[in-house]
Amino acid sequence: MKIFLITAITCLIASSAAVHAGSNACAQPDVIGVQVLGSGGPIADDGRASSGNLIWRDGKSIMLIDAGGGVFLRFGEAKAKIEDLDLIAITHFHTDHSADLPALMKSGFFTDRTRNLPISGPSGNRFFPGINDFLNAMFGKDTGAYRYLSGFLHLSRPLDGEAGSFSLQPVEVDTRKETATQVFSDGDVRVSAVGVPHGPVPSVGYVIEIGTYKIVFSADQTTLDTRLAKIAQDADLLVANLAISQETTDAVAKRLHATPSQIADFATAIKAKKLVLSHLMARSIEPLDESLKIIGKHYSGKVVVAEDLMCIPM
Ligand SMILES: [Zn+2]
Repeated sequence: MKIFLITAITCLIASSAAVHAGSNACAQPDVIGVQVLGSGGPIADDGRASSGNLIWRDGKSIMLIDAGGGVFLRFGEAKAKIEDLDLIAITHFHTDHSADLPALMKSGFFTDRTRNLPISGPSGNRFFPGINDFLNAMFGKDTGAYRYLSGFLHLSRPLDGEAGSFSLQPVEVDTRKETATQVFSDGDVRVSAVGVPHGPVPSVGYVIEIGTYKIVFSADQTTLDTRLAKIAQDADLLVANLAISQETTDAVAKRLHATPSQIADFATAIKAKKLVLSHLMARSIEPLDESLKIIGKHYSGKVVVAEDLMCIPM
């Protein structure tokens, strides 16, 4: 088992390097795939960008899920295009999931995009903003930190060069709601979101259906809530965040994140065909062999360890 896992990891690192060389398996015609932009977390100790993932379809980068630090750079390295995005889906407002969003939007200003860009995210509480408050804090025309980009929220104003060239359309997901919220629908693509337990941080998990495929981003969470599992059944792919080891004694981290066995039990409960482990940092990379062994005991599907720019075709 161990030899298989090490071989698998070696192959995956090799495929990631191939992307650096310029061939992106996800960006090919007739391919639907998930590309990991950032496989890291909030600690800058691992050479990985913070959280970010792209969905590719037929050579187009149609969705961005999270935009943590470093995702700006990886987005360009992947040759993704802001013009092609149909949706940006933010899971929560920790920096490692959202800090590069303003920079990416400014990059979009230099494209010929004019169509609206839906952007979904959680509702807020007294500790964190919801998606509407976050966007206002960034781009609000009077008090926003980047108010020079206020055109992204106020396109009714005439364009004045620095204002923004397309309009963000926020979709706020009430994280306390029992049932899922559909945040996007177009043709055979449907995206649903529901609250997930991430300590005091309002967070959402996403279920993305494209044609016959079902892709689940479980986001940072403990898995101690059944709402996402209800809508994530029979997933073709589950991207889960392995941020802690089984033996962690850090009470705060345990309140925020699932252990390896909890992730594996969740993957089994939703009958996921494949599990991608992401959000890795030194503290979860160092015990990775042990975590993979535990996951192997609780989940019998294929396990992939994420690397930045790795493509996982459907
Ligand atoms: Zn988080």
